[in-house]
Amino acid sequence: DLHNHHLPSVAAKVNIIDLDSAITFAFRRELCLKSTLNKNETLALRNFVMILSKCYPGSPRRMKFLQLLYKWMNKREYLNQISTEQITTFIDSMNASLPKKIVWSKCMGSHSHLRGYPCGLWTLFHTLMTQNCQSNFGMAMDRRKILYGVRNFVQYFFSCQKCRYHFLKEAATISSTVKSNDDAVLWLWRAHNKANSRLKDDKSTDPEFPKVQFPPLYLCPTCRLPSQSYNDSTIKWNKDNVLKFLQKFYSDIEYNENGAE
Ligand code: FAD
Repeated sequence: DLHNHHLPSVAAKVNIIDLDSAITFAFRRELCLKSTLNKNETLALRNFVMILSKCYPGSPRRMKFLQLLYKWMNKREYLNQISTEQITTFIDSMNASLPKKIVWSKCMGSHSHLRGYPCGLWTLFHTLMTQNCQSNFGMAMDRRKILYGVRNFVQYFFSCQKCRYHFLKEAATISSTVKSNDDAVLWLWRAHNKANSRLKDDKSTDPEFPKVQFPPLYLCPTCRLPSQSYNDSTIKWNKDNVLKFLQKFYSDIEYNENGAE
């Protein structure tokens, strides 16, 4: 179906507003659905904040905040248990921590109940997977670690129950199939495409943003092996080119002068 392939590529760039809003939504809304985090939840959150503090492509002040949040979460009294009120209080005690308002840019739906957070979350996950983040001692961070961080974040903090169910079922394949950094990036890409194909005709899909296999032809002609039909179900991918494309797409971020604060 060529109709989905005519959009100009400038429309598809990642925007920092969606990434900031995804983090803000996670901390200010989703997290507050719980009161006290148990040991596993605390560990998963601390690990996710560690990943954010090292891999998030945020403004200097945002990065400073994430680093301070991570440091604060490492206090002995919070290692095994922490209340979400304590977290919120900490966030509010810092100026320039997270925006107050949640605004969507590329993730804006044609109705307020469409897109938004789930779109922002996928965007955040792919972005984290493709940054050049440094673990301690200046070594490049193992992307499998980031993938597990994402997986655990979904398990403990994504309130969409069916999303969690499908994603965790899919994630059972990670340990046997993901052996390298590149595998980890491609695993998340493939899992997202499976969701796209499952939700193609779902009523929750925004009619103005039809679910297509990503990247669509117009964004990356070389990601598909040549001479096939445009039928989504038969796409044969050129994985090297998909990898290069994802790497570029998710590091080419639009920053806004007047971003939400
Ligand atoms: P999204 O699918 O949210 O994608 C956001 C953007 O990511 C796209 O605009 C595109 O630029 C890019 N993108 C698309 N596909 C890929 C890809 N394969 N690789 C890299 N980038 C890509 N909803 C359900 O109803 N049932 C579910 O089981 C379900 N599971 C989910 C699991 C997770 C982990 C998440 C984060 C969301 C899930 N959702 C589920 C929500 C659903 O996948 C969409 O996020 C939502 O419908 C909004 O869709 P969207 O059109 O904004 O695009």
